[in-house]
Amino acid sequence: MIGHTSGSEPLVRLPDGTVKQVSPLTGTVVWTVPGRGGRPHAVPRRDRLEVDPAEHDRLCAFCSARYLDTPPEKSRLVLTEDGPSTLEHLPATRLDETVAELRLVPNLYEILSVEYWRANHGYQPSPELLTRATAYTADPLGRAHVLDMLGRRAAATGLSGVWATEPEAERLAQAVDLFAGSHDVVVARRHLVDGARFSDQLAGSGSLTPEEHLRYLQFTVEAMRAQYAAQPYARYVAVFQNWLRAAGASFDHLHKQLVAIDEFGPQTERELARLAAEPDVYTTAILDHAAAHRLVVAENEHAIAVAGVGHRYPALEVYSRSRHHLPWDHTPAELRGFSDLLHALHAATGADVPTNEEWHYRPPSAAQPMPWHVVLKWRVSTLAGFEGGTKINVNTIDPYTLRDRMVAELAALRADGRVAVHPIGDECSHDLGVLRYAD
Ligand SMILES: [Zn+2]
Repeated sequence: MIGHTSGSEPLVRLPDGTVKQVSPLTGTVVWTVPGRGGRPHAVPRRDRLEVDPAEHDRLCAFCSARYLDTPPEKSRLVLTEDGPSTLEHLPATRLDETVAELRLVPNLYEILSVEYWRANHGYQPSPELLTRATAYTADPLGRAHVLDMLGRRAAATGLSGVWATEPEAERLAQAVDLFAGSHDVVVARRHLVDGARFSDQLAGSGSLTPEEHLRYLQFTVEAMRAQYAAQPYARYVAVFQNWLRAAGASFDHLHKQLVAIDEFGPQTERELARLAAEPDVYTTAILDHAAAHRLVVAENEHAIAVAGVGHRYPALEVYSRSRHHLPWDHTPAELRGFSDLLHALHAATGADVPTNEEWHYRPPSAAQPMPWHVVLKWRVSTLAGFEGGTKINVNTIDPYTLRDRMVAELAALRADGRVAVHPIGDECSHDLGVLRYAD
C-alpha cells in the first residue's frame, strides 16, 4: 500500500522516486527523498598539514614509535622471513626490538573496568595475570610505564589528586588491572599510507592489501576468542571499528575494539528472538530479498556483500556463508573469503568517509543458529529533530544507489588489482538460499 511503511514489504519505491525502507530485523524506518542524495557525503577536509617523514610514526598514541603510550601489550604480530609470527606479553624493554604489524593492547579508557567485573560478578584475576603484572613491573622501565598508565587513567576519572599522594607500593597494587581488562584494541601499524606527505593521507582498512586485511581480521578473531577465555563472566564480546572522529574514533589511526559485556545486548537479543521464531530469517528476509532487488554488491564461495535495507545510515552488509557461526570456527579459506569482501567494501567506500564497522555473531552460549555478519555504516548524516520526533530516519542514499556506487568503484579497484573480488554486481549469481548457517 503506497504511503505506508508498516506493511511487510521492506523496500518500496514510490512514484515520485522516494524510497521507503523498513528493516526486516529491527523495524527501523528509513526514507530517502529524491534530490537530497547528491549532497556531499565525505566529511569536509581538514586543513592539509604537511607531515615531516620523521614524524610519520609518532602522530598519535597508537603509532609505532610510541609503544609506551598504550597499556602493556597483550600480543603483537610481526613479519619474519618465515612468515607472520605472534609475540605475546613482551616486557617493556623489548617493545622496540620489532615493528608490530598489529598489536593487541588494553584500552586505557575502558567502557567496563576490571572493578566492574570484580564488584558485580566476583571476578578475580588469575594467578597467571598476577604473575605477569609482577614480572612486568619488576623491571624499572616496565614499572615506570605501568605507573604512567595508571596515573593517566586516574587523571581521566578525576582522581589524580588522590593518586599522587598514594605510596608507590599502593599504586603498583593496581597494576594487575592493566593486565586483566577485557576492553582491548587491535591497532594496525600505519597511521598514514606509505609515502604520505600530508596529515590527511590516512591508512584505513581499504588502504591495506587484501593479505594485510586478512591478517587484521584473523588477529582480531583470535583476540575475541582470547577475551572469552580470559573473562569467564563475559556473555558477549562486542567487536567494532570506528573510523574517523565523526564515527566516534579517538584517533585517526586504524584500530578495532573488543569489549566484553555481561549480557547479549538488546540488538543481539532482538535478533535471537527473531531467529527463534524464524530460523531462516537472514536467508529469506535479507539475502533472498537482496537478490530479488539486485542489491548484491559482491560475492564469493564463502561470503556475500549486499547493500543493507532499513539502516539509519547508508550501510553495507557482509554475511558469512559458512555453516560455522563463531568467527574462530571458520576455516582459513572461509576467513579469507569474508575478509576479501569486507576489505573491498572499505576500499570502495574510501578512507575519507567516517564509518562504523559492527560485527554480529551468535553469542557462544546462545542456541539459535546465526550467521556471522558485519555491517559497515557510512556516518554521513546526523540524526536531528525530525528523526527524534517521528522515528522516521532520512537517509541520503538509498540501497539501490549505494549498490550502484559500490559496484562501479569495485570495478575500477579490481581493474587496478587493489581488491580481490569476483564476481561483483550483475556478475553475481543472484541465487536464493545462499546461506548455510541454519543447515
Ligand atoms: Zn597513529
